[in-house]
Amino acid sequence: MSSSDAPLSVDILRPSAMGPIADVDPRDTPGFDGGKSAGKAIRKARGEVLADLQERLYAHGRSGDPRSVLLVLQGMDTSGKGGIVRHVMGMVDPQGVSHASFGKPTDEELAHHFLWRIRKKVPAAGQIGVFDRSHYEDVLVVRVHELVPHDVWASRYDTITEFERELVRTETTVVKVFLHISHDEQRDRLARRLDRPDKYWKYNPGDVDERRYWSAYQEAYQAVLDRTDIDEAPWFVVPADHKWFARLAVTEILIEALSHLDLRWPAPDLDVDVEKKRLAES
Ligand code: ATP
Repeated sequence: MSSSDAPLSVDILRPSAMGPIADVDPRDTPGFDGGKSAGKAIRKARGEVLADLQERLYAHGRSGDPRSVLLVLQGMDTSGKGGIVRHVMGMVDPQGVSHASFGKPTDEELAHHFLWRIRKKVPAAGQIGVFDRSHYEDVLVVRVHELVPHDVWASRYDTITEFERELVRTETTVVKVFLHISHDEQRDRLARRLDRPDKYWKYNPGDVDERRYWSAYQEAYQAVLDRTDIDEAPWFVVPADHKWFARLAVTEILIEALSHLDLRWPAPDLDVDVEKKRLAES
């Protein structure tokens, strides 16, 4: 399988193609007409393509190429961000992946600009960085709960796009994924956590309180898509009630992003024939 054998075209997941999120069915599987078992099998096969591209990126990084990739994952509680990290990023060499999750800011972080903690975690050359939540929380939870005055969070959309343009200028490819689940699916996922002793640890009573703000969060997500979907750092709306589809879609989004980097294996900076001879004689 090569990077061009894509099982779905990720362009149809752009917000402009998907339309308002209120009209998107989270159970949908846009662009893919196979079911769960086909989707899982294809993702595993595509994992090899992803792993090959990631290794090339890593090799370039080791050869002085500054390029990196940043995957931003956003979504409501239980939307499957952790599963993407395990099942999609789990298909590539962990040496080439840097992972950062952004929870409630510490007092120290709050004393700084909201991008302070984010800048510290942008991926190094050759790495695929994954943000599990991100700077977008500063216009999501912060907006929904009015944690700062309106004019402060309202000015952040432009600050964020400027920040992301700066990342792109310094050779970081930025792709952003909104994992879109339904209110009912979230209830089922939370209920499953209460049914299984091995999942109790994941259950957070605060998640139930947050469900009361569901529509405010949907509005905040729509505003994010309206204000920060730029071609340099695109958003993708991924229906996520089917975990297998979300994982397949994110695999394809990463393959597409890496393919654009045209990653041939870096040329050796040594004389291969001389080294072969030296080795044979050693
Ligand atoms: P998750 O819900 O992502 O699986 P979790 O339940 O383990 O993770 P944490 O990672 O500790 O929780 O924190 C996530 C919480 O932190 C979310 O409720 C999120 O809204 C909140 N959070 C993240 N960034 C901010 C921010 N800038 N200001 C306030 N709250 C934030």
